[in-house]
Amino acid sequence: MTGPLGVVYLLHFSQPYQHARHYTGWTEDLLDRLSTHASGQGARLMTVIYQAGIGFTLARTCEGTRRTERAIKNQGGAVRYCPLCTLRPWDGCWGPPPADLVPRYYPNRAPEGPQHCILMPQLAGRR
Ligand SMILES: [Zn+2]
Repeated sequence: MTGPLGVVYLLHFSQPYQHARHYTGWTEDLLDRLSTHASGQGARLMTVIYQAGIGFTLARTCEGTRRTERAIKNQGGAVRYCPLCTLRPWDGCWGPPPADLVPRYYPNRAPEGPQHCILMPQLAGRR
């Protein structure tokens, strides 16, 4: 073993940010990590896309350690491994996709984001 077992995950952005379309990360608590990213935290790139009003989809996962994450990042070309970009994505270091994975979309929730320029009435009263 090389460190704790966790989950490597691939996030597919709802639109590209410059040359970036994906983020690959590793966590011991996937749901907690995704909610951190959905609020624009946890990684520099996730902060930047949050501020740009871009949402993301959890596109792929596999069990592994930080070493697995490193191997996946080293193989590069996330597009070829992303089921949202490619009809028949390669497995590579990801391994076969789990049967129960349904891609899940996380819309951008930045208060200043383009879809959120109208304040909810119950929030407007508090400012
Ligand atoms: Zn993709």
